[in-house]
Amino acid sequence: MAENGLPQIPFLDVGATYRELSTDLDAAYQRVMSSGWYLLGTELAAFESEYAAFVGTEHCAGVASGLDALILALRALRIGSGDEVIVPSNTYIATWLAVSAVGAIPVPVEPDITTSNIDPTLIPAAISPRTRAIMPVHLYGRPAPMQEILEIARQHDLRVIEDAAQAHGARIAGQRVGGHGDAVAWSFYPGKNLGAFADAGAVTTNNPEIDDRIRVLRNYGSRTKYHNEVLGTNSRMDELQAAFLRVKLAHLDEWNARRVAIADTYLERLSDVPGLILPIPPMADESAWHLFVVRSPHREQLQMELTAKGVQTLVHYPVPPHRQPAYRSIAKQIGDQPIADRLAGEALSLPIGPHLGTNNASVVSECTTQLVHVLHQRTSS
Ligand SMILES: *Cc1c(COP(=O)(O)O)cnc(C)c1O
Repeated sequence: MAENGLPQIPFLDVGATYRELSTDLDAAYQRVMSSGWYLLGTELAAFESEYAAFVGTEHCAGVASGLDALILALRALRIGSGDEVIVPSNTYIATWLAVSAVGAIPVPVEPDITTSNIDPTLIPAAISPRTRAIMPVHLYGRPAPMQEILEIARQHDLRVIEDAAQAHGARIAGQRVGGHGDAVAWSFYPGKNLGAFADAGAVTTNNPEIDDRIRVLRNYGSRTKYHNEVLGTNSRMDELQAAFLRVKLAHLDEWNARRVAIADTYLERLSDVPGLILPIPPMADESAWHLFVVRSPHREQLQMELTAKGVQTLVHYPVPPHRQPAYRSIAKQIGDQPIADRLAGEALSLPIGPHLGTNNASVVSECTTQLVHVLHQRTSS
């Protein structure tokens, strides 16, 4: 611990991005505030076209959060009551909650333990006559195996909705994540690779009908004020957040490059530590390195001792969705998910982000190496 009691190497520092770009962000604030227009205006329209250009899709519709992006994508594809949607067992609960929110049933598929992403070879067995869609997550920023997933979806006539909340800037065989599936949901929660200064989200797609439906649904089911075609909702990204995101989008590639440099440092410096399992970088794809998740049988001990050394770590995620009380009522139907359980028990996220440099990653690597050696000796003697 530093003398002020704060970790010397914080896991996340969203304030750092403000300090880095304060002149431009303050100018964006002034511009929006003095415009007198705060919802569905020129800033959102500009961000939507800039983000679509960034990911390489035809359309982008800004919404209020990542969870809403997932829900509205499902609704735009007319997935609802009684339908089944295949989701990863290893994910943040929002993926499942979106499916439940539209009245559909999340059907979990276990991850490939070497990638932590959904294992495509297990998907066909989870498909039933009620299955309507597959919802892969590009977990930790690593692209899910989309080629395999899209092929399974084609064979079974299923829709594909990608949860890209952790994958801003990631690439699949050179092409940015954002338009492989029918609809792709994004979160701009402050801690994501591209984060707003409040909640915000978006759906990207190459399908004009899906884009149109999202736009109508996000605005009370209305195209023309006081004329409501469908049962919509209120889920709009506000002008301030859109203006802030435009400023930050211009720096996303540079910030992701810092993440890559940190990940490379960890991969190099931690490669020979006994009992510590490192993420395997994808071969043809590029991770956005939202998280750098290692695995250790001594996770609790390792986290405690890293904290004592001023290195803040987090666990993504300590309780998998199928173990949450929220899903108790369908626990039997969901069944056991032993690989997700195992990851929940062993995963530890080391600090990574644009607020850190490779020097920080070297310090974290050194601490981790020493601690793991001690823990390893203690348990093997
Ligand atoms: C953050 C996140 C979400 C939800 O995004 P919000 O903007 O917080 O609603 C969904 N899925 C995954 C995988 C996430 O990491």
